[in-house]
Amino acid sequence: MIKGKSVIVTGSTSGIGLGIARSFAAQGADVVLNGLGDAGEIERLRRGLETEFGIRVLYDNADLRDADACAALIHNAEMALGKVDVLVNNAGIQHVAAVEDFPAERWDAVIAINLSSAFHTIRTALPGMQARGWGRIVNIASAHGLVASANKSAYVASKHGLIGLTKVVALENAQGGVTCNAICPGWVLTPLVKAQIEARAAAQGITFDAAREQLLGEKQPSRRFTTPEQIGELALFLCSPAADNMTGSAITIDGGWTVQ
Ligand code: NAD
Repeated sequence: MIKGKSVIVTGSTSGIGLGIARSFAAQGADVVLNGLGDAGEIERLRRGLETEFGIRVLYDNADLRDADACAALIHNAEMALGKVDVLVNNAGIQHVAAVEDFPAERWDAVIAINLSSAFHTIRTALPGMQARGWGRIVNIASAHGLVASANKSAYVASKHGLIGLTKVVALENAQGGVTCNAICPGWVLTPLVKAQIEARAAAQGITFDAAREQLLGEKQPSRRFTTPEQIGELALFLCSPAADNMTGSAITIDGGWTVQ
């Protein structure tokens, strides 16, 4: 039962994270939102979820590039809600450039947000989960955690690393009540991917729609986007009794991307 559990979703002011937060809120969990964005809009989002689902929704503006802020995100939630039962490491950024042109500062930011932040939140949340004998850690990796694409060195490295971290946390906690799994989406139409479609359209002088079809056609055999809601439902499943013995998995939800 997810009702009454306390759930942190990093990077949940937008896209997939927001979809996941909504799925947990709809099942009666209290939710901590985190992410960047306009303060007024985030407050509207927070209050909207509270009103719609009758649960507690907090917002923490932790910048996940900072290790101390990652730890404080967990501690603040433990103080406010008494515990962290479910940790969803979802925040992520992208930068597209060939390795020889890749700015070192962008490499550091991608690794910090997509990979190191998960290490810092997990290491802070684990002791409480272990003491209570139950916890669920869900890391949002990517098809790019399993296979590569050109021009995405930092992203691919970070997502492969996140799956590695998932496996180690799973092994270290295999005999307790804490599981750790990764979800590997293919294309999901969020602001992160819209920016890539816009860049493609601009580079080739084609319409957004033509660039979107091209992007899907290259990698995703279903030619359909996965939705944030579908990823939210998969995360919920990983927290259900049916998934009690699932740990260390990297589950694809990618329209066939990685089976080619
Ligand atoms: P998005 O850009 O819509 O959302 C990213 C979220 O992370 C936002 O809430 C943003 O504010 C937050 N964030 C960014 N930098 C942050 C920082 N320094 N501190 C705190 N929060 C920060 O992107 P999305 O597509 O929803 O991506 C969510 C996750 O899913 C990412 O890890 C991404 O790699 C992964 N993913 C996305 C796709 C896709 O097709 N969209 C596919 C596979 C995996």
